[in-house]
Amino acid sequence: MAATLTFLGTGDAMGVPRVYCDCPVCTEARTSGRNRRRRPSALVRDGGGCLLIDCGPDWRLQMESVGLRAVDAVLVTHPHHDHIGGLPELADAVRWTGRPVPVAAAPRVLAEIQARYPWIGQYLVFTPLIGPAEFLGFRVTAWEVNHGHNGRSYGLRLERPGFAWAYVPDSIHLSPAEREPLRGLDLLVLGTAYYREEAPVATRSLYDMVEALALLAEVRPRRAIFTHLSHGVDLREPYPLPPEVTLAEDGMTVPLA
Ligand SMILES: [Zn+2]
Ligand SMILES: [Zn+2]
Repeated sequence: MAATLTFLGTGDAMGVPRVYCDCPVCTEARTSGRNRRRRPSALVRDGGGCLLIDCGPDWRLQMESVGLRAVDAVLVTHPHHDHIGGLPELADAVRWTGRPVPVAAAPRVLAEIQARYPWIGQYLVFTPLIGPAEFLGFRVTAWEVNHGHNGRSYGLRLERPGFAWAYVPDSIHLSPAEREPLRGLDLLVLGTAYYREEAPVATRSLYDMVEALALLAEVRPRRAIFTHLSHGVDLREPYPLPPEVTLAEDGMTVPLA
């Protein structure tokens, strides 16, 4: 069986519904729940192995939602709360199981995690992603990307013979060099907070879908999935997207083949 990718969380930093908000999308998320989105995280599974990408504050419920008790390793894109807030809970779980879990990220990301949670290095094995590294049979590389108003983040490119994909949840207006690793992909998972974001560019940190479609036209992945969706995105709306582009939903699983 091919490896699969499951979207454990497809929301933005605040999730959907946002606690303070009564907008139509947040209201729908509280009732029928099509737009209910946990903080961004994804799970790669192959055979009995599982690799978590980002470990946000909804991690515990996300594990329960797929019936998982443990993960083999964690890749982290960048050290913002919505992507690492679950690491102290993962460390707490390791304290009980006695099975340390590798947490792999760019050295700068690991340094920030260490500074934020100084005790978790006892339980999690910090693994610097400098050159390509192998996880679950994928050759994984991390490269730095522009995260706009929020600074810098990393994209992850994962390759096996016959299948290449990338997970880039937090980026905007990538430079030509930052776009290079997006070429030749079978699948691009890209963060887009809104269909069209009207806020001034200097205040923004993620692509919107209109800009993302222009990026796709340039780098031409075979398929693309937009994730990291804010309460500005309503899954009941028929956004004008080409057939190779879909919007992620919590719990959705796609083959990596
Ligand atoms: Zn984020
Ligand atoms: Zn809202």
